[in-house]
This record gives sequence, structure tokens and C-alpha cells, in this order.
Amino acid sequence: MLCLHGFKGLGYSPFFVSTMAKALMEIKTNKDILINLVDDVDVLCMACPHLSQNMCCKSGNDSDERIKGFDRKVFEKIGIKPNSILKVKEAILEVQENIRPDDLDNLCKNCEWFNLGYCKEGLKSRVV
Ligand code: SF4
Repeated sequence: MLCLHGFKGLGYSPFFVSTMAKALMEIKTNKDILINLVDDVDVLCMACPHLSQNMCCKSGNDSDERIKGFDRKVFEKIGIKPNSILKVKEAILEVQENIRPDDLDNLCKNCEWFNLGYCKEGLKSRVV
């Protein structure tokens, strides 16, 4: 939900990009959809070519643990427990109300997309 704020058509493969674009379109057009927020492999991860044996293997052996650590930090920040089911609009609001664009400096410091600035920009302008 956080990363969707910075999505501008880039990603790990054409299939991943089209899955992200579809997810973004769906949540923008129906914010009453219920979603399950997980700190594990989700529907977007399932479209990623770097998912192997249900684990992220994007950047070495500790990749999966780093991603899960990121997820845990985001859950802490928004004050929601993993596996919570919310309406999309509620989840978006929790992200936008509880995570300031400058928080990404710390939260996202290991992400390869961070330096593009799209996520900060998207969060600032509440693009989702
Ligand atoms: S910079 Fe942060 S919000 Fe953006 S894609 Fe990376 S982890 Fe997600």
C-alpha cells in the first residue's frame, strides 16, 4: 500500500509492472474493496520474478528477512497488526496519516527505487 504511492510504471518485469498497474487501477476505482494486509508474500510479490520458494531472493540470502523487516516497520508505523482486513480507503488513510514523506528516508533506505523520489512525491501529493 505504501509502495503503490510511488508506482510510475517501473518494476521487476513486464508481468510485475502490469500486475502493479492493475492493482493501482482497482484500488483507485473502488476504495471499498476489502484487503488483507500481510507482512509476508502478497499478491504483488507473487507477480515478481525474484520470488522463489515463497521467499524474496532479489538481493542475496538476507533479502527475504530485510523485506519482512521493512513490512514490520511499516505496520508499526501505521499501528495496524499484520493480517488485518480493512477497506482500501482505510488502509490508504492509515498510511497517509501515519507515514510522513520524510519517514521514507529511514524506512526505505535499502530500496533501489528510493532515490528516484517517486514514493516521497506520491505520498506527499496523496496520489493513491
Ligand atoms: S522507496 Fe519505499 S515506498 Fe518506495 S518502493 Fe521502495 S520500499 Fe516502497
